[in-house]
Amino acid sequence: MKKPKIVILGAGYGGLTTAVNVKKIVGTQHADIILVNKNEYHYETTWLHEVAAGTISPERASYSVTDIVGGGVQFLKATVTNVDVANKAIATTEGELTYDYLVIGLGFEGETFGIKGLKEHALALADLNTARNVREHIEYQFASWAKDEEKDDTKLTIVVGGAGFTGIELLGELANRVPELCEEFHIPHDKVRIICVEAAPTVLPGFDEQLVAYAKDYLTSKGIEFSIGTPVVEATAEGVKIKTGEDAFDFIEAGTVIWAAGVRGNSLIESSGIENNRARIMVREDLRAPGYDDVFIVGDCAVILNPETERPYPPTAQIAMQQAVTIAKNIRHLMHGEALEHFVYSDKGAVCSLGHSSAIGAPFGQKLVGKPAAALKKVVDNRALLLIGGPALVAKKGKFKPF
Ligand code: FAD
Ligand code: NAD
Repeated sequence: MKKPKIVILGAGYGGLTTAVNVKKIVGTQHADIILVNKNEYHYETTWLHEVAAGTISPERASYSVTDIVGGGVQFLKATVTNVDVANKAIATTEGELTYDYLVIGLGFEGETFGIKGLKEHALALADLNTARNVREHIEYQFASWAKDEEKDDTKLTIVVGGAGFTGIELLGELANRVPELCEEFHIPHDKVRIICVEAAPTVLPGFDEQLVAYAKDYLTSKGIEFSIGTPVVEATAEGVKIKTGEDAFDFIEAGTVIWAAGVRGNSLIESSGIENNRARIMVREDLRAPGYDDVFIVGDCAVILNPETERPYPPTAQIAMQQAVTIAKNIRHLMHGEALEHFVYSDKGAVCSLGHSSAIGAPFGQKLVGKPAAALKKVVDNRALLLIGGPALVAKKGKFKPF
């Protein structure tokens, strides 16, 4: 009998964890498993702020997909160019694919909310290459300041748009990296400005107030400036325009603008034929797409409501990896004509890094700050490696550097 074909799109936290678990739970003897990803490597999206600031290398934050999935899973290095679920047709740069079961794990894209000039003038933390680009851009600005006879100090100003988790984690890394850059390029530290612009009345809106205050004080003590309640309304080649009052605006001149003000799903979702909002799909309780019994959505392309608040759970690696396990089990159930399991999210809490040696965290409802939180963040990062690639991956990529 012909084996069913399971196609998994994307080898991020969601897709790669799905592939590992489908191999384990369904078995390569019972299905053809095909994993499609743009690159031959998986990158740690949760470490992109470190790559962007230059505190770790892009190589350190990535590893081979085939080393993880091993034999039995067919890996196709290709970019998906169209998803057509009505015709079960996936177009890729390496040809067309069809499937019996499809898992879409194509991840997120930065949300620019249609703000003028952002796409052209702001850098992003969307994948390994955009993060590398941030690092190189900052280094280029610092190097050209050092080289120029006539010094333009705005080259040394870095604006971070958004003080959500991504923005704050990036600021923490920049606070560590900038002194190294100043030393390397012989730049007086007081010439450098790092300014975070946040639209909401607080940084990390919605997070525990005490922890938020700790993070803000810590970063301020490291020289980070905050402009709170002042949304970015435009970006130009010279910097960003911010709204400071009803009819009041200000302009911050900056050589580097990094946009970290929210995410949406992969835009391929919008033309897939599946009902969606900002390229994210409100999945059913068993993680299938509405109207398509053979299509599962994992990770940042999926939306699930928290039953307690009736608001969507934030898109995280934590939820993506849990969804992946349920999807693998449900594909097996479908193949055996069994009832499907409902996904139940087990929220372990969030930890937000403030650089190598500090963090804030709310694990299991507890509050942690400083070094203990930073240690926990490393445990969380290592646990993700363990779940995807076992002890060998932890040994190769794990974070063990002492404070
Ligand atoms: P992704 O990890 O984005 O993976 C998508 C994959 O699909 C990628 O491999 C990509 O190359 C591939 N792909 C995309 N388009 C195509 C295409 N057209 N064709 C082929 N392949 C394609 N969450 C946490 O839980 N904890 C954290 O500490 C944390 N820290 C974060 C730090 C930063 C700086 C950022 C930006 C996010 C962080 N998050 C964290 C959120 C978390 O990274 C995302 O929720 C998670 O990456 C989503 O996983 P995913 O598999 O849906 O997508
Ligand atoms: P986010 O949506 O959580 O935060 C974006 C921030 O940008 C918000 O504070 C918002 O008010 C602000 N903003 C929006 N428009 C703006 C404007 N015009 N000008 C200035 N500020 C503006 O997005 P994120 O921080 O990229 O996080 C994305 C997801 O990834 C979230 O689910 C988050 O929980 C997750 N994440 C988790 C971690 C972690 O657990 N350590 C780290 C990074 C990201």
